[in-house]
Amino acid sequence: MMAPGFTGSPLDRVDHIRSDADAVTALLNDWRGRVLGLDGLDPRLSAEGRLVWQSMAEVSLEVELILLGLHEDKPHFAPITSGQGGAHRSPAIWRALASLPAEEAAIYGTARSLIDWHNGHRFCGQCGGETKVFRAGWGRVCGGCGKEHFPRTDPVVIMLAEFEGKALVGRQSRFPPGNYSALAGFLEPGECIEEAVRREIHEEAGVTCGAVRYITSQPWPFGGSQLMIACTADALGDELTLDTTEIEDAMWVTKDEAIAALKGETDRRFNAPPPFAIAHSLLRHWVNQ
Ligand SMILES: [Zn+2]
Repeated sequence: MMAPGFTGSPLDRVDHIRSDADAVTALLNDWRGRVLGLDGLDPRLSAEGRLVWQSMAEVSLEVELILLGLHEDKPHFAPITSGQGGAHRSPAIWRALASLPAEEAAIYGTARSLIDWHNGHRFCGQCGGETKVFRAGWGRVCGGCGKEHFPRTDPVVIMLAEFEGKALVGRQSRFPPGNYSALAGFLEPGECIEEAVRREIHEEAGVTCGAVRYITSQPWPFGGSQLMIACTADALGDELTLDTTEIEDAMWVTKDEAIAALKGETDRRFNAPPPFAIAHSLLRHWVNQ
């Protein structure tokens, strides 16, 4: 199976160094250190469409840095920029993701998720006091009550229901015309993956499912830090009752139709998600079964 987008970072995360203040200071003073070039939360790209890295000397001393990890003994950092986070995705991002090699997209995704988390956690959720960066950027500690805060990842299920050789795809009104994807939704507290898959398919499309199978997963750095958990589910029927507040349309597609979409054939019934999205990997997995 093709590795999902935003996976395969070559960086060693060196967790054991993060809480060793002397070791972190030594890395910050290492002349070989590299700092990720960003405009807000968007990556700066070279003419070849690759990430741009700055030397430590090029970065203001006032910029707070996250230790992303080591690669070939060189420390790699990300600056905590004050970019607009949330689900905001600029057109420049989509162009960047089309050109970035997979391992660079993985590094960028990690940085973006962490920076977004820092910007949303400048104050303590427990006492309202100001928080400060600690653990080399992998946490914040409250100056008021001392509570330690750590970056969170929100699990999301994304799935294809299957029925008699067809798979269920849907589209939201914000998608470009003709684009369809797998249905998806956040896990809720108190739910396991299988329950969330069945609930989301039933809520959005009115389809009841039985067995659920885990296929693969992907970190997704937009709208915070999400973990997309890709599954397939056995539908017990194919009648659709759509929740149009969630999805604009849904339909059952054959493997031939999915193959035509993945290949971008001119007479395709729908447009497949881009290769860096896990819905693409999931659809590809399904047609190859
Ligand atoms: Zn506090």
